[in-house]
Amino acid sequence: MKSSKNDISESYNSLFQKQLLHKKIVSKSTLQQRKAKLKKLLKAVEVTYRKEIQKALFDDFGKSSSEVDLSEIYAVTAEIKYALKNLKYWMQDQLVSTKLVFTGSSSKIKYEAKGNVLIISPWNFPINLSICPLVSAIAAGNTVILKPSEHTVHASALIKRMLSSLFDEVEIAVIEGGSDVSTALLKLPFNHIFFTGSPEIGKIVMRAAAENLTSITLELGGKSPTIVDQTANVEIAAKRIIWGKFLNAGQICIAPDYVFVHHSQFNAFLTASKKVLFDFYGENSKNSPDYTKIINDQHHLRLIDYLEDAIRKGSKIVYGGDSDLKSNSFEPTLITDVSEDTDLMQKEIFGPILPIIVFEDINEAIDHINSKENPLALYIYSSSQSKINYILQNTTSGGVCINNNDLHFYNHELPFGGINNSGIGSSHGKFGFMAFSNQRAIYRQHIPGVVEWLMPPYNQLKQQLINLAIKWF
Ligand code: NAD
Repeated sequence: MKSSKNDISESYNSLFQKQLLHKKIVSKSTLQQRKAKLKKLLKAVEVTYRKEIQKALFDDFGKSSSEVDLSEIYAVTAEIKYALKNLKYWMQDQLVSTKLVFTGSSSKIKYEAKGNVLIISPWNFPINLSICPLVSAIAAGNTVILKPSEHTVHASALIKRMLSSLFDEVEIAVIEGGSDVSTALLKLPFNHIFFTGSPEIGKIVMRAAAENLTSITLELGGKSPTIVDQTANVEIAAKRIIWGKFLNAGQICIAPDYVFVHHSQFNAFLTASKKVLFDFYGENSKNSPDYTKIINDQHHLRLIDYLEDAIRKGSKIVYGGDSDLKSNSFEPTLITDVSEDTDLMQKEIFGPILPIIVFEDINEAIDHINSKENPLALYIYSSSQSKINYILQNTTSGGVCINNNDLHFYNHELPFGGINNSGIGSSHGKFGFMAFSNQRAIYRQHIPGVVEWLMPPYNQLKQQLINLAIKWF
């Protein structure tokens, strides 16, 4: 018998209530207990389930095992190892100074778990983008309901199986499904929601969170621009940009979405990029075991539409352009003469098509970037410090890589996140721990302080003391 919407909501609510009863135990867990959970997760991803993860991602969208190792396994193991090394310091109360006017007191910040949290993840790096936030949530002492994407059926089923073998559902539970499941879950009064996905759905999540005044982290997408200026080493730039763009067949939130190339470097950049693509994936990318497929027909057709729209508007395909719906293989594609009114320039590409745009003056690129939503990432290829400074000062983005792309994601000392349309809040390392923590402000009075002298009834002397406080403290 098919279960009704009410039954489904009721079962989520009952799981939520069970976690609610358990959340105090989890939030009071010690450093050792949290580390034990993280170690269990580390062993599962690095050893026990590694082969199964590789297979699931191959089955979902033909990802090579080396690429899975790099972009899914390593991302998770590095996040866990970093947390294991630093959790002791993150969990410690942080003493802060107290002004003279508050003598006799001390102040500290206590990092407490937010409580019951919901993680909603996308399909493009299903393991990485489900488990990395989970690591931060565990480190901060939360109970978690995780909803992976419906588009990676093998990976999502594996995440459920792996996590249920490691944790009791009162602590960490996985619920599979699509938007109907998310919609039902979003009605519950979680203490925090960590969402990774598109800006469109991010807005839905934010509206739902507002109903319960639930705090949110939104890791969203958009168009990440890349600039190759007249001083850049064009061979190096081409190699790194092609790698960062065509990894995962361009289905990456931080992939270089399009490239601005200085006119003096254009021909060299094009020649170098074609050579790199040939070296990476051979004459026929469809046969390359290292080249990932498009996730599904819907995305495949969307990319074909983008290309057709661009060609109708005068763009030229200079490499690739073919695709095969049967195998969902889409050739790495370089395209030039792309006008501003094309879908390729208006929407997030999220696939293996790279528009290359020529500029004469850097302000053309800067004005273009500033006319769009704030990007998740901005990539600058240049050997001139003053040109780099100029670009940085005149643009904004969630993150920046200079003379590289994508790699800021892997440095856990950096906050990872967007700004406005590309995201709210940040993740990774201590920033992820903080996203799932309430920074509780604790002020303690030890002995009577100056403030006692400033209470009513006010008189001239007290007013003078207040004036002094305003002037000096
Ligand atoms: P998506 O927004 O379509 O889906 C993300 C998640 O939201 C999925 O689990 C999905 O089931 C769920 N969802 C779908 N409809 C919903 C609804 N109405 N209400 C609530 N939840 C709903 O995104 P996607 O296609 O899975 O991923 C691609 C997008 O994610 C791109 O825009 C990409 O840039 C972005 N992304 C961002 C990051 C980042 O770290 N900033 C990482 C990966 C992907």
